[in-house]
Amino acid sequence: YRAKADGGRTHQYAEALDEGSRDRLRLVDELRTGIAQGQLVVHHQPKIALSTGRVTGVEALVRWQHPERGLLAPDAFLPLVQDAGLSADLSAQVLRVALRDCATWREGGLDLSVAVNLSTSELLDVGLPRTVAALLEEVGLPGSALVVEITEGVFMVDKDTSVAVLTALRELGVRISIDDYGTGYSSLAYLRELPLDELKLDRSFTRNLATDPRTAAIVESTVALAHSLGLAMVAEGVEDDAVLRRLRAAGCDLAQGYHVSRPLPAAALSAWFAALDADGCWSAPRAGREV
Ligand code: C2E
Ligand code: MG
Ligand code: MG
Ligand code: MG
Repeated sequence: YRAKADGGRTHQYAEALDEGSRDRLRLVDELRTGIAQGQLVVHHQPKIALSTGRVTGVEALVRWQHPERGLLAPDAFLPLVQDAGLSADLSAQVLRVALRDCATWREGGLDLSVAVNLSTSELLDVGLPRTVAALLEEVGLPGSALVVEITEGVFMVDKDTSVAVLTALRELGVRISIDDYGTGYSSLAYLRELPLDELKLDRSFTRNLATDPRTAAIVESTVALAHSLGLAMVAEGVEDDAVLRRLRAAGCDLAQGYHVSRPLPAAALSAWFAALDADGCWSAPRAGREV
């Protein structure tokens, strides 16, 4: 009796797995056509200078407008993109759209840069700098309009190749940012050797900044470290004004997060830009009006 019950469970499990992988295969298929048919959507989240409130740039964040499942977040499909070998296609599309949107805002008088996230496989592609140069040329932007966000894991896979690719990007004027800084490995060794412009402190540090003294100590010393290396310090995931003020007091340069704005479609962000003051500066919602 017992053996039978166990057997039944195993059978059910195998069936569920089967269904899972069938689902996955279908999704990979849909992804391939989806990318080809332009179903990828790019939202942007603004980044402000903490000392002035000036909007200095945006981060491009990809979504997939799935015909039946609706708007999918990157976590729901980026792993599939990697497995299916579609990373380069995705990046080329995101870069093109992001740079075009940025060019439009710059033509409208906003002095913005756009940050694009690149996965490890892109950073190991020696053809990337040429692709980026061609895209910049196509949209008529200088390299300085682009920031590339990478994670530290890439250096552990193949340091020589990733350094060569980053160096070539920097020769175009592109800036290099380490995303989710503080969560990876060997941070100090690569800070010494790599071509970098910016550290982007992981959200986990930002989140606890106002409540945890240890986090505050880490953030303050990381800002000092960044500055002594000539790097800009960005904080991501800023969700309230208390954290924003702490970051400013800690000397952090730039901030990004729901408190300032959620990632928005380009048209909605244009409206958000239009509501900035005459100097292109954001200011925190007044107390009492905050929602
Ligand atoms: P990331 O680059 O660290 O991006 C920040 C993520 O935090 C975004 O999630 C953003 O929507 C979210 N976020 C922003 N402000 C706040 C906040 O105040 N609170 C909280 N809780 N979250 C906030 P999203 O858009 O779901 O992207 C997730 C990750 O997917 C990104 O993390 C990035 O690693 C990856 N990704 C996004 N777009 C691309 C892309 O075009 N190419 C590649 N290779 N990766 C991408
Ligand atoms: Mg990022
Ligand atoms: Mg990040
Ligand atoms: Mg992250």
